[in-house]
Amino acid sequence: MTATAPDTADAAAETAHFRFFELEVLRTRRLGRSFLRVTFGGASLADFRSGGFDQSLSLFLPPDGREHTVLPSTDEDTWFGAWRGMPDEDRPVMRSYTVRDQRRTPEGVDEVDIDFVLHGDASPASRWAGRAVTGRRILAIGPAVAENKSVRFQPPPAADAVWMYADETALPAAAAILERLAEGIPVRAWFEVPHEDDRLPLQTAADADITWIVRRGDGRDRTDRVLGALRSADVPAAAAPYVWLAGEAGTVRATRRHFVQERSVDRRSVRFTGYWRLGASEEQLLAEAYAGQAPSEEPTSEL
Ligand SMILES: Cc1cc2nc3c(=O)[nH]c(=O)nc-3n(C[C@H](O)[C@H](O)[C@H](O)COP(=O)(O)OP(=O)(O)OC[C@H]3O[C@@H](n4cnc5c(N)ncnc54)[C@H](O)[C@@H]3O)c2cc1C
Repeated sequence: MTATAPDTADAAAETAHFRFFELEVLRTRRLGRSFLRVTFGGASLADFRSGGFDQSLSLFLPPDGREHTVLPSTDEDTWFGAWRGMPDEDRPVMRSYTVRDQRRTPEGVDEVDIDFVLHGDASPASRWAGRAVTGRRILAIGPAVAENKSVRFQPPPAADAVWMYADETALPAAAAILERLAEGIPVRAWFEVPHEDDRLPLQTAADADITWIVRRGDGRDRTDRVLGALRSADVPAAAAPYVWLAGEAGTVRATRRHFVQERSVDRRSVRFTGYWRLGASEEQLLAEAYAGQAPSEEPTSEL
């Protein structure tokens, strides 16, 4: 269950919605033990249009030993084939991330923040982020219009409450969603993070009740602990709750089952996305998606 492969393939097709941007690292800041914020700039960001909420984008990171990302083509019709055809040692690594924030500074500089989870040096994106320094340039396929399909948080107008689950990879998206919610809307949220100091400050005008679940040990019991927190929670009744779930695919699937089967939420009101899967790199998820093996993230799919 991943949005990554279809997302990126569709991004190639939906030329009006997405385009390539060159991002240059301006600065980095540690937010918590697991989080590193990388702030990017670059002239092309003048045309970047994040729709906010859980807006995602695809990053292309240089292979080890290279400073900047180079692609043979950034033409909307040919880039994918050109990228896939590159020798393994030259091919940039493609990864999905969230636009945590976009702004224009008082000096007129366009900036985009991406919050990377640092989960070790063995994985390309985590390694790249951990070593990011000012001046490094990467490429991204990102939003050219604010209304686009990479904003998955789409509550129907009748929704009278928002219920959320996110692990650390989806916390940037959850934080951005919370910042955009209307004043007073009831929110019940469960956020799962590896360490105490990953409980990042969140801002919202919504009436939000947030439970933090700090992982223990190697996290093997993560899904059980999340389900335990959900089951023991006192959730105020709502006639039409909208449920947004994102994080590790297996845990997301279990939380979706909880809301549909145990809390009787209409499955069409549950938006769930596997942001990563234990034991599988994004290449493997991409390969599965192209082979048609990845379960759909769409609300109509079977549990
Ligand atoms: C729409 C979308 C938005 C996302 N937004 C963000 C974001 O804003 N910030 C963010 O940090 N991530 C985000 N992710 C998740 C991120 O794309 C994955 O974690 C990705 O696998 C990281 O790439 P990597 O090269 O570090 O690891 P990979 O090479 O893809 O994976 C290598 C190994 O590491 C494991 N792994 C992957 N991620 C983690 C992790 N976080 N903790 C522990 N093990 C892991 C895999 O299971 C695999 O075994 C998002 C994903 C999607 C689909």
